[in-house]
Amino acid sequence: MEAGPVDSGPTDGDWAAAEALLRGLPSDARVLLICHVNPDGDALGSMLGFGLGLRRLGVRGLQATFPGPPEVPEPFRGLPGLDLLVPAAEAYPDPDLVICFDAASESRLGDLVDRLERAGAALVLDHHASNTRFGGVNLVDPRAAATSVVAEQLLTRLGVPLDAGIAECLYVALTTDTGSFRFEATTPAVHEMAARLLATGIRPGDISRRVFDTRPFGAVRLFGEALGRARLEPAAAGGRGLVWTWAGLDDLARHGQRPYVLEALIDSVRCTAEADVSCVVKQTAPDEWAVSLRSKGAVDVSRVAVALGGGGHRFAAGFTGHGTVDEIVDRIRAHLDGAVIGSVTG
Ligand code: AMP
Ligand code: MN
Ligand code: MN
Repeated sequence: MEAGPVDSGPTDGDWAAAEALLRGLPSDARVLLICHVNPDGDALGSMLGFGLGLRRLGVRGLQATFPGPPEVPEPFRGLPGLDLLVPAAEAYPDPDLVICFDAASESRLGDLVDRLERAGAALVLDHHASNTRFGGVNLVDPRAAATSVVAEQLLTRLGVPLDAGIAECLYVALTTDTGSFRFEATTPAVHEMAARLLATGIRPGDISRRVFDTRPFGAVRLFGEALGRARLEPAAAGGRGLVWTWAGLDDLARHGQRPYVLEALIDSVRCTAEADVSCVVKQTAPDEWAVSLRSKGAVDVSRVAVALGGGGHRFAAGFTGHGTVDEIVDRIRAHLDGAVIGSVTG
């Protein structure tokens, strides 16, 4: 955990302002929930879980959305609350209230960023230390393991009881961002929250199998190819080591796979014993690549990601790259030495 004021959570005043925004809502208020582009389990789970909570509060004019094509990744197609989703193009142009989930900056909202200016009010729920506080009211807690932790706290303050639907969404979010309770962020408070969610009767085995342990055979074969061309560079990152691989649009096409199947590939790469840092470069357009970076604890990969135009957390970060895979990895390599924790340049 980093020191300094940016790392402290919301103040009493922030919580009170958020509560006032939501308690004062007329039941026909047009409320637009937005999560970050290429939504992951925390983005969708915290947004839909909070949306179901607002529905229980009696808010009727709810919409949930995310930028880009309105395609929910297969692992999340069983989430409760999906009926709240609308394509970005159909989202209220001028909502009474916008609530943003798991987005560290406006750039993560893509084309939906204009809703912030046109909305009557904007509330931000997030847990990225790099959050730019782009809302009128910001509930940003960098100590929280997931945005769903902040969402649950706000629902509790609003007096909304957890039901199985809300709990399943928040559980998917919590397990996504803690790597199913394996990462350092897995505090006693995380397990206490998990206990409250499980007490609603949700089935963790079914949920985990659906969300984490299921992929099409084509994706299994594609992972095999991508892992087969992984490179290990023991001297990179000041000798901590780098392991990386990539997958292109032609790989996806050859195996008949959608781009989101590659989100899980980093988990098969980062287990490499000989490297602290792992990286997967995933093509999203002819000259555009989504880059995922992970560290086991020796390197602050968010520094690398921020230097290359992205963001994230210390040990899980990403950015959008352009050019060839080799050019992108060259740029990463050049920033890694300075990102070793405790290095003078950082
Ligand atoms: P991912 O590797 O996509 O799972 O992302 C890991 C972390 O990096 C998440 O916290 C993301 O919010 C953040 N991240 C990934 N891509 C970007 C990007 N292009 N810009 C800013 N943050 C990003
Ligand atoms: Mn996220
Ligand atoms: Mn998150």
